[in-house]
Amino acid sequence: MRIKLLLTAVLSVMLVTVFAGCGFFVTGEDLTTEYTGEVVTDSAEETTTEYQGEVVYETEAEENEEPSEEENEEPSEEENQEEVTEKKEVTPAITSGYTANGFEVTVADGITYVGGILIANKSYSLPADYAPGDLLPECQDAFNRMQATAYDEGYVLYNSSGYRSYELQESLYTRYCNNDGKEAADRYSARPGHSEHQTGLAIDLNEISSSFANTAEGKWVAAHCHEYGFILRYPEGKEGITGYMYEPWHIRYVGVDTATAVYNSGLCLEEYLGITSEYQY
Ligand SMILES: [Zn+2]
Repeated sequence: MRIKLLLTAVLSVMLVTVFAGCGFFVTGEDLTTEYTGEVVTDSAEETTTEYQGEVVYETEAEENEEPSEEENEEPSEEENQEEVTEKKEVTPAITSGYTANGFEVTVADGITYVGGILIANKSYSLPADYAPGDLLPECQDAFNRMQATAYDEGYVLYNSSGYRSYELQESLYTRYCNNDGKEAADRYSARPGHSEHQTGLAIDLNEISSSFANTAEGKWVAAHCHEYGFILRYPEGKEGITGYMYEPWHIRYVGVDTATAVYNSGLCLEEYLGITSEYQY
């Protein structure tokens, strides 16, 4: 009898194994349940159910997709999202971290933005093919308004140097290096790709001279340019941080909010954002 029982058990195991080999049994747990021969049929049924398990997997997959479908409730939103995705493919913005002061650093098309502010200094360069061709409209508009108000109050401001291309900066810098040497040139002129003038957001005012600081116009600009979204980009006493000598004539458009915050802080832009301005080569 014991031998019979053993044989039955062995046979059952073999049967089960055959079915399992056919893929009827999905889990080892099923094998345990169907240990009494007849159960094989049950298990076949169960298998059917479990075969729908594949369907279950599909359903699971669908379920996984569902949340995003729910997010895109309205077709218009879907379209919008698609548009955003397409734009991202053209200009992928990569968050590379945060500055010590908590400003997000993003890079898109080789251009670095810190707290949303486009940065061109000795640490952060612009690609040679970044060429807006002129002052950006927001900068030009702000300058026009500032110039008009200043004029009404008796101060004459004019744009002596606005947008400069990579190539122009390259020739200027090379000339300065030939005249004064590289070390001296680096104090007052940017290497190509590192000039704020290439951004289309910087303007050199009036006589482009340190004497501008003591003119009525220079004092007015220092006191009021933030109201129009500009900052004095290279303030006095900050050469060690900005990497450039004091330039009372060089203003940079950053928008009224940032300009006002920077003005009130008494810091230069690098200090305010928590970034450096040092050549790596
Ligand atoms: Zn300048």
